[in-house]
Amino acid sequence: MENAYIAPVTGEEIPRGYIRIDGDRITALGPGPAPAMSATQGVEWIDGSGCLATPGLVNTHHHLYQWASQGLAQDAALFDWLVALYPVWAAMDAEVVHGAAGAGLGFLALSGCTTSSDHHYVFPKGRGDLLAAEIEAAREVGVRFHPARGSMDRGRSAGGLPPDSVVERLDDILTATAEAIDAHHDPSFSSKLRIAVAPCSPFSVSADLMTEAAALARDKGVRLHTHLAETLDEEEHCLAQLGLRPVGYLERLGWLGPDVWVAHAVHLGDADIDVFAQTGTGSAHCPSSNGRLGAGVARVAEMLRRGAVVGLGVDGSASAELTSMSGEMRQALLLQRARYGPAALTTRQALEIATLGGARNLGREAEIGSLEPGKLADVALWRTDTPFASAVADPVAALVLGARQPPLARLLVGGETIVADDELRTVAQDELGRTGGAAHRRLMRLAGEQGLATAGEVGPPPGQM
Ligand SMILES: [Zn+2]
Repeated sequence: MENAYIAPVTGEEIPRGYIRIDGDRITALGPGPAPAMSATQGVEWIDGSGCLATPGLVNTHHHLYQWASQGLAQDAALFDWLVALYPVWAAMDAEVVHGAAGAGLGFLALSGCTTSSDHHYVFPKGRGDLLAAEIEAAREVGVRFHPARGSMDRGRSAGGLPPDSVVERLDDILTATAEAIDAHHDPSFSSKLRIAVAPCSPFSVSADLMTEAAALARDKGVRLHTHLAETLDEEEHCLAQLGLRPVGYLERLGWLGPDVWVAHAVHLGDADIDVFAQTGTGSAHCPSSNGRLGAGVARVAEMLRRGAVVGLGVDGSASAELTSMSGEMRQALLLQRARYGPAALTTRQALEIATLGGARNLGREAEIGSLEPGKLADVALWRTDTPFASAVADPVAALVLGARQPPLARLLVGGETIVADDELRTVAQDELGRTGGAAHRRLMRLAGEQGLATAGEVGPPPGQM
């Protein structure tokens, strides 16, 4: 690849330079044209003229199945939103998950995302292998995938929020999670699939599940993920039930450390942020979802200032709709500045949390997250010379501040083309989108047939359908 403006995230930006890729790795990058290569047979040359090259974006929090339940419970806060949607999710099966995950991951790739995690925590009984269904979808789209095997063990009869039909027994959770790791986890440098262990949230599962899950993950050498400090309701709940704030509870459970990343971390005090920084505990900032559910604005600028690891997450599509990574980068910058002033987050910091910050959350800082020789060739090439974008002086500003994403000229995962000229090249794009729509209709039909919920019960207010 030659003639691109390169923003490698680590190191100086290069106004006109080249990136050389051999196999799935970046082997050289620098200013000017690429040094002549000894063997040119089979070499693909990509012209980056008029384009910005960045690392592929890394999404560190999602619930892909929610692609099938978008646009519902539009005005609810988190707890009411969960109570409204659990009965819908209780009807999902492997076909719904495969369709939803394919559409969600395809949409992410079109927004520059080369690596995505997923947090799947709803496993209704007898609905097929839901984890395998989303893994298959990720293989088809071609992105690196870090599914977190989620879980819930406190149903309504035990004082929890979800219906009993979507919670599992502790022993069954641990067995299924261990089996998922053994069947799918690939720890290699070039890995396109790693499993994490992810009880839904400390306030919605038992303390035993949290501690047993941590023991299992550490025994298997995989990472830990959960939701934390998303809303003030959660904080009040933790104080009332446990006498501790969420971070204090996490600490008591042995859940702070460099192998843990949490979603949200909106309501952290100064001491909490310092604990995150000192222990290396990461967080996935999800600004669109936090905005839609009115949860609050995470203290991202302060977390970065104090040395905490922060990545970005689009969160589930049901709380953010049509979730895009480039959009999340802009949203993060705007929310920080709206709340904390214009110096809160720069365009480069927004790009960094969307790439290297995400790589740190997933424990893959050595492999992805920046453009450096030796790292995997996960590259997004954005066209910034379109007639309208050509008026913007700085290509990184055109990418991060622009309300409309610049065209994606290329998206490479390990050097392989996933997107070219804004179109998926691994799968039929329109068909993938339609399959996501079919997953939505199937889920609503199954939920209606089983008497669990209908669109009317969780849909928009009357008159707004
Ligand atoms: Zn979430």
